[in-house]
Amino acid sequence: MGLDAELATLFVLLLGGYMISLAGKAALVTGGSRGIGAATVKLFAQAGADVVFSYHRNREAAAQVEQESRKHGTRIESCKADLGKMKEAKKLVEFTHERLGRLDILVANAGIWNEKDAPIEQLTEREWDDMLRVNLKSVYAVIHYAAPRMIAQRSGRIIAVSSTSGQRGEAFHTHYSASKGAVISLTKGLSSELARHNILVNCVAPGWVDTDMSKPTLETKAGRKSVLAAIPLARVAKPDEIAGPILFAASDLATFVTGEVINVNGGAVLCG
Ligand code: NAP
Repeated sequence: MGLDAELATLFVLLLGGYMISLAGKAALVTGGSRGIGAATVKLFAQAGADVVFSYHRNREAAAQVEQESRKHGTRIESCKADLGKMKEAKKLVEFTHERLGRLDILVANAGIWNEKDAPIEQLTEREWDDMLRVNLKSVYAVIHYAAPRMIAQRSGRIIAVSSTSGQRGEAFHTHYSASKGAVISLTKGLSSELARHNILVNCVAPGWVDTDMSKPTLETKAGRKSVLAAIPLARVAKPDEIAGPILFAASDLATFVTGEVINVNGGAVLCG
């Protein structure tokens, strides 16, 4: 191997070992017990952050994420919260501040989707309200209580998790796409509003990701075939592949990025 090739190999090895640092940062991740949220908690811990994450019902999954994340030596705590309720969002932010002493990064990730088709004429008020409560009101609620802490610190990062669905719509799941589209407009409005406090607000918008949420569709042959047909990379994302761009948005590599929608979808949405 010539010197140039050796240097190139060394460079790749160094880059391969490169890790974005969140050392000394305090982060709150909502919906961290499973899927994208769990991958984010683990990656943040690996990057050196102290993390509080919430779960809704799945205490066992939360305990597992705590255990796996603690091996990196930072402080990791979980907290049960139904974030569609203002009181519980308040409690979660207070818990984070009490345990970590500050709040530098908020990832508003918790959300639901319903695999059942809901044509508009059959979509019930209850289904509409539940979707909007968990996917949109929860984002407002945690930011409402977290923002004053960040304003007082004169710095912060807020990353909301939206979806391709919030940009191109989703037939038979219009309540989901409406909630995710609204998360994007909330992000854009807040990015201007909070810029004067040195708080950056962005969205990460995944396409299909291999999690419990997408399982019912991806498990059927027909569902998987139709999903993959619309993705140029011809596969769905792993949760880690969404956590990476979330880490980027939270890091010192993104100090001039705000009001953006970071699309992570294997090429599936060429808009937004
Ligand atoms: P997931 O595996 O189903 O996990 C959802 C997480 O949200 C869990 O931690 C769950 O807690 C929590 N949660 C559910 N209802 C809640 C509530 N009422 N209050 C507080 N927390 C609640 O989902 P995921 O696939 O990782 O999705 C994470 C985010 O990415 C969501 O906002 C989703 O819309 C978005 N997204 C996902 C995909 C995809 O293909 N998977 C694509 C685009 C966007 P428990 O574990 O306790 O139930």
